[in-house]
Amino acid sequence: QNWSKQQIDRAAKDHVVFTYGPTDAQRDAVPLLRRGEGSYLYDDDGKQYLDWTSQAVCANLGHTVPQSVKAAVAQQLDTLPYVYGGLGLVEPRARLASLLSEILPGDLNGFLFPSSGAEANEAAIRIARQFTGRSKILTRYRSYHGGTATALSATGDFRRNFIEDAPGFVRLMDPNPMQFSWGRDMADASERARGALREQVLGEGPDTIAAILVEAIPGSAGVLLPPDGYLQAIRSICDEFGIVMIIDEVMAGFGRTGKMFGFQRFDDVLPDIVTFAKGLTAAWLPLAGVAMRSHIQDHFRTNPLGYGATYQAHPVSLACGYAVVKHMLDEDIVGRVQRETAPVMEAEMASLVEDFACIRQARAVGLFACCDLVSTKTGDRVAPMAGGGPNAEKVAAFKRALKEEGLIAFFRNCMIHVCPPLTITPEELRDGFGRLRRALSSVDF
Ligand code: PLP
Repeated sequence: QNWSKQQIDRAAKDHVVFTYGPTDAQRDAVPLLRRGEGSYLYDDDGKQYLDWTSQAVCANLGHTVPQSVKAAVAQQLDTLPYVYGGLGLVEPRARLASLLSEILPGDLNGFLFPSSGAEANEAAIRIARQFTGRSKILTRYRSYHGGTATALSATGDFRRNFIEDAPGFVRLMDPNPMQFSWGRDMADASERARGALREQVLGEGPDTIAAILVEAIPGSAGVLLPPDGYLQAIRSICDEFGIVMIIDEVMAGFGRTGKMFGFQRFDDVLPDIVTFAKGLTAAWLPLAGVAMRSHIQDHFRTNPLGYGATYQAHPVSLACGYAVVKHMLDEDIVGRVQRETAPVMEAEMASLVEDFACIRQARAVGLFACCDLVSTKTGDRVAPMAGGGPNAEKVAAFKRALKEEGLIAFFRNCMIHVCPPLTITPEELRDGFGRLRRALSSVDF
């Protein structure tokens, strides 16, 4: 028997704590969702919402679970629902690792399976430190790597919210296309950024640096496509000084960019470690992964990694992950994004900038897109979207308009992310842009 809306509201008010904003404000702002289907979610009144960001850019296959995934999960629950990863080996762990070794390039052949993106980055950092015997980790200011202590210390964004950083993290400027320009064109920018990075590595002392950890395309920071040559520069500096190159594919991985992994958009970049999560199970069950190349995997054949977590390599999540990845391959989900929806996304994002004075710089790669909301009076960014600030009323009106239009979106600062399920159709995508345009038109930014 389902609870009524009143029962749920009452219990939520009394007992549920939200995690991002203040609980009361966040609880009142979000709809009570009852059901999902395809790219859509439905609230208690049956109102339909288009999922404009695949929730936290993770429900990559939308809200209808394929039969093959349901069957794999049910079978695992029926036969062996749980075994602790340190005390038993299960078939889906071996099968998923083998499948991933086939789809990742080069000798990225060894796999660990934590339960979240943050944990995957924690593990990757630990692996790099143990492998090199060094401690420093270089990361970008414009980055998000997770909400646990180490991953948050690696994170560059959200710094104002921090209480205390773990030691050993050094922040990098990167060739960010929004605020600051390193050069006349992309090639110039990437060359100068390479020179600056090398100087910084020398300044820090290369033999103190375990790893450089970056998102190939920073996602939460605004879908910041680096100039071609930048990731290659990181690769060559890592090679020169024996530093481990870690690419965080938690958000970009599994097809979001129109390639299986974001770093594959750049030629000749083979990271030493890749972390991923979200799309691995299309967010239907919690599971993450750390892929490592053979030279690192070999180190841990005879040295303990010393990593333990109750839910790492969870059999049911692994069965789900295997079935999801298999489904993506069988249905050519990534190829379909590339051919069918990425061109619509690019065109629609570009025309938003042309048609709306309050929209600046549309950035789109695959179904990974973002633009900035600016004031038409001052040209300043309309920030913060999270609440408060001089534009608070306009932002609140815009959010109400989006809700009325039936578009579930999230905002960071002045940015509007557009990251719908990879299974969205071109018609649904155009329809979403129609809803966004109507909401934008209703507010005088
Ligand atoms: N890394 C990146 C690039 C992310 O976008 C995120 C989450 O948004 C994380 C790590 C953290 O993942 P999780 O929330 O699963 O811990």
